[in-house]
Amino acid sequence: MNSAINRQFRLKYRPEHRVTRDHFDFVEEPLPQPGPGQALLRNLYLSLDPTNRIWMSDMEQYMPPVQLGDVMRGSGIAQVIASQDPHYQVGDLVMGLIGWQDYTMTDQALRYAPLPKGLPLDLPTVLGVLGPTGLTAYFGLLEVGQPKSGETVVISAAAGAVGSIVGQIAQLKGCRAVGITGSSEKCAWLTGELGFAAAVNHRDLGWKDQLKQACPNGVDINFENVGGEILDTVSSLLKLRARIVLCGLISAYNNGHSMASRADLVPILMKRARIEGFIVLDFAERFAEAQAELGQWLIAGKLKHRETIVEGLEHVPEAFNKLFDGDKIGKLMVKIADPQ
Ligand code: NDP
Repeated sequence: MNSAINRQFRLKYRPEHRVTRDHFDFVEEPLPQPGPGQALLRNLYLSLDPTNRIWMSDMEQYMPPVQLGDVMRGSGIAQVIASQDPHYQVGDLVMGLIGWQDYTMTDQALRYAPLPKGLPLDLPTVLGVLGPTGLTAYFGLLEVGQPKSGETVVISAAAGAVGSIVGQIAQLKGCRAVGITGSSEKCAWLTGELGFAAAVNHRDLGWKDQLKQACPNGVDINFENVGGEILDTVSSLLKLRARIVLCGLISAYNNGHSMASRADLVPILMKRARIEGFIVLDFAERFAEAQAELGQWLIAGKLKHRETIVEGLEHVPEAFNKLFDGDKIGKLMVKIADPQ
């Protein structure tokens, strides 16, 4: 082992608004050895996700909030370096909840999924496209959205981890993907490389008119990642019996304790639209099926992706804010260590 200590970010107090380093204690602990039924993992890549911000809050949510004093929860890819659990062999690569730390002791209550051996994909690709964000895109669009060929699908935060995959799956299913994102560079990536039919920059003054022009027949599916003004603007373009896939509301996550987010329901009534929230864990029993199809699309070159990789566990709190500043493209993650 390179190091006999485990550096950890432990939640010190709950953020009301933007997260800072002061919300955590950055501590060093001696590295424990696994007991019977345990395995020790070296963490390699940590996924930074908007939902981490929800876990820092004690509002009612879909998982228990992280408790004050506990290691901050986070998912990622790790390697088994010592094991007294027959499920895990030294050298295995696994994906699951590893936390904001250098090493993780496995917990029997949590499932660490082994990565298939010999996969012709690098670890950041696996974490981004075959991990929780790719699975969110897959089930959110295909199961909740139920897209049909020829439909127009609008996606917010379209150049992000979930959004960039949603738009490409929509195009694979014969839909027109229209992205909303926060820079001209991101718009160019969506239409140039990923094959979106159109993309608009929500920082442009005329973005609402541009969106209307990009959806001349209206919107069949809104894959909503942001909420607020963006949700209301897309709602004003809905077609009769449109669907709103409510995946996330990132514009509200730094809005104080309750993360209040309001929406204009009038167009939803007038257009008899259906709005449905979902959490990717709802589909956990079907992850392998989705990973097989996503993997085939990746290997066939049908799904393009980018990652923004920040190096070093010590930079996690600052890197996390890139999600809220839009200061990154594709999937955001932190590289903690190389596999051995
Ligand atoms: P992204 O990679 O999309 O990163 C977040 C992006 O959101 C930023 O890059 C920025 O992009 C955009 N953004 C942030 N704040 C604002 C704002 N105030 N107004 C407009 N755009 C904003 O993150 P993910 O792909 O990981 O997550 C996307 C959404 O999906 C989140 O809402 C998340 O909570 C949700 N999610 C839901 C899951 C579920 O199970 N329901 C699972 C995983 C994610 P830009 O530059 O384009 O503005």
